[in-house]
Amino acid sequence: MGVQHVRALILSDIHSNLEALEAVVADAQERGGFNEIWCLGDTVGYGPDPDACLDLLRPGVSGLGGHQLRIVVGNHDHAAVGKMGVEEFNDAAAAAARWTSSRLSQDHAAFLSGLPLVITQGPFTLVHGSLRDPLWEYLMSAEAALGTLKRLTTRFCLVGHTHIPFICRENGGFPKFVEFTEDQVFSLGEERWIINPGGVGQPRDRDPRPSYAIYDSQPATVERHRVTYPIAKTQEKMRRAGLPPPLIQRLDHGV
Ligand code: ZN
Repeated sequence: MGVQHVRALILSDIHSNLEALEAVVADAQERGGFNEIWCLGDTVGYGPDPDACLDLLRPGVSGLGGHQLRIVVGNHDHAAVGKMGVEEFNDAAAAAARWTSSRLSQDHAAFLSGLPLVITQGPFTLVHGSLRDPLWEYLMSAEAALGTLKRLTTRFCLVGHTHIPFICRENGGFPKFVEFTEDQVFSLGEERWIINPGGVGQPRDRDPRPSYAIYDSQPATVERHRVTYPIAKTQEKMRRAGLPPPLIQRLDHGV
């Protein structure tokens, strides 16, 4: 019995941006395809297409077909299904969360409501924010990285939430953030790493192009790529939906 060859498309913070998601999927298909999608939360919120994004991701509903989906919940997903209030959101995010709640199909809302905070899969742990605070912590400092590494029971941890890509090496107890360089293939070894693939639907590293990663189990590597997508089309849908202008404008700037 051979070990299954896994090619996982690693996505985070899709944020109801269908054009960005479609561009990422098409790019990954051209790069050799994938048999799993690992989604790190905030699938909805901010953007104009919550149902269509979930339609694309969910096996059984998806036109993609054939892939395994492993998906954790994010803070915006919880807000959209009423599992938390929007008091901690800024005005634009709160307005978008209310709009999303009003649009989301019952089936997709039930799906999001049932998602776990953390998934372990082989040598990987998937979580939205951090293992110390799965929904809310922005993992951006060595101190925060230590908080997660202390709780990590697998070799690698995949996080999102900041919409900013990085690799953080454990480095003998002194976590070190290094650039998760675009289009470079990184070999996974014995050292424990925390990896952020960047954001699909609302990048925040001053580059408006959606960012995502691919994990290949044979050999064990991760690589990160970016794609272009028709931003104006998404923005026009947001205008028609009456979503807050700052959320529309920021897509141009990657902030
Ligand atoms: Zn997010």
